[in-house]
Amino acid sequence: MCGIFGYVGKQNNASQIVLEGLKLLEYRGYDSWGIAAKIKDERLKMKDFIVEKHIGKIGNALLNSQLSTPNSQLSIGHTRWATHGGVTVKNAHPHLDCTKTIAVVHNGIVENFQELKTELIKKGHRFISETDTEIIPHLVEENLKKEGFATSVRDAFNELKGMNAIVVMNAVSNEIIAAKNGSPLVVGVGKNEFFIASDASGIVKYTRKVIFIKDNEMAILGKNIQILSLPKGKKLRINYETVNWEPEDADKGKYKHFMIKEIYDQPKVIYNIAENYGDQIENFAKIIKDARGTFFIGAGTAYYACIGGAYLFSTVANKHVNVVVASEFNYLENFLNRESLVIALSQSGETIDVVEPITRAKQKKSTVAAITNTLGSSLYRLADHKILLGAGPEKAVASTKAYTAKLSLLLFLAFSLAGRNKEGKKLLVQTDREIRRILDKKNIEKIKKLADKLCRIDHIYTLGRGLSYSTALEAALKIKEVSYIHAEGFAGGELKHGTLALISEGTPCIIFAPIDETYEAIISNAIEIKARGGFVIGISPKRARVFDYWIKINDLKQASLIAQIIPAQLLGYFIAIKKGYDPDKPRNLAKSVTVK
Ligand code: GLU
Repeated sequence: MCGIFGYVGKQNNASQIVLEGLKLLEYRGYDSWGIAAKIKDERLKMKDFIVEKHIGKIGNALLNSQLSTPNSQLSIGHTRWATHGGVTVKNAHPHLDCTKTIAVVHNGIVENFQELKTELIKKGHRFISETDTEIIPHLVEENLKKEGFATSVRDAFNELKGMNAIVVMNAVSNEIIAAKNGSPLVVGVGKNEFFIASDASGIVKYTRKVIFIKDNEMAILGKNIQILSLPKGKKLRINYETVNWEPEDADKGKYKHFMIKEIYDQPKVIYNIAENYGDQIENFAKIIKDARGTFFIGAGTAYYACIGGAYLFSTVANKHVNVVVASEFNYLENFLNRESLVIALSQSGETIDVVEPITRAKQKKSTVAAITNTLGSSLYRLADHKILLGAGPEKAVASTKAYTAKLSLLLFLAFSLAGRNKEGKKLLVQTDREIRRILDKKNIEKIKKLADKLCRIDHIYTLGRGLSYSTALEAALKIKEVSYIHAEGFAGGELKHGTLALISEGTPCIIFAPIDETYEAIISNAIEIKARGGFVIGISPKRARVFDYWIKINDLKQASLIAQIIPAQLLGYFIAIKKGYDPDKPRNLAKSVTVK
């Protein structure tokens, strides 16, 4: 995965526009970055590109070459997440051809790059990097000897094996061409100008009019725009859409990190669902009612939302759903038939582990529904029915607001299935208020204090039962993702089946104890932990005697599972800060997993 941004148009600071765009895409890849632009400089009579590349995160970088002067109208850039070739300046994108008039940025893996490279070397092409990407500008250069730019890019792309998205710029024709069969690309359509990017966050400050490029399509951006089919180059009708993100949604604003900003975004996201989703929820509930055999699938945090959803459907609506971790669904799909309904949850809508089984479910003629945050994403396009989370862009790798938005939707759906819409809505409004209370200064100080206590330990255990089982799993994931502390979440009942052996003097255990049918049993678990010397942190409306540390969450009935994750999100965040880690970009992780 990586971030791509490009600009062609009338403004004179294309490289600056690309730099700013890349900064908003850094969550997609952050080992190195680079920008190429064609600059207008009469003295130099330059046709070729000026390229600037750096190792490391883009952060608040400034351009320091000729690119910093406003004299470019054509530029592309990339923030890399290396797959082929080490993290070096040479391997950073954009990559150029021998004539230095073709520049390419690329997302994905060219599976047959070795064969193609050998052929190109035989033809006299010289390579500078170790990447798979570099063969692309050379392939285009080779094709340009016999055909026009657009056909050259198309033919080059058609030779690539694997899932790829490329953006190619040509200094001679002043055009940008994008092609893809994996990874997202969206075109922003301005007045006499075009943007191309991996997501719309850097585009919305210029225009909300966008085109999502579908797989096996290419876009030609220059004086105007054309969309063509990839195999044959047939001209396609253009489908314009409008993104409703606010420019400030894509920015950290007054916050230090996206993760904390997104934690604070949660009340308004939940309120929006409560206020504006009633009709959509009712329609969606009908689809679920009609289905015979419903599956929830998701990966990572989305999978835990699926588990929470299954418990909500059972508790509130007496409705059974099957929950499967998305990457395993291919091995379980034998159950699927025309009457099955597969509901896929994914923030990005691009996770390969979700997109692949959905494609297969469609082949089996099952109905597919998507709950995603990303308009135009692969999942969104594949699904027969869809609901957008409306959480706004989520940039921190560790998901927070998309998780509580998914749970809010599922809770609303469960109540709708039970014919109790109003009750569902009311609970969500209460949840919004309760989360605002949890996020107040006094509480934050309390959680910071706990983070100070826990930042030097090696293991944390999180326990819940029933509706809170999913919270325990998600809480452990949040803590480990950003603080690198080993955290394990499990159902309270499992304690005596193994994990109790790991509890010794001072082992921290977080207990989720809402006032519901699980209360007595989870408190018994806490007592068992305490008896072995464990340090018991209770997240509960009531201060039980067994708690060494208590974080109060007011009772929200079935919606408690939404609010009670907030202290765990904050705990993960503050431990990461205390340890000096960047919570937005945890080591080895990327925001959306587009390769297997
Ligand atoms: N395979 C390419 C590389 O390693 C692209 C990786 C990416 O998507 O950032 O440079």
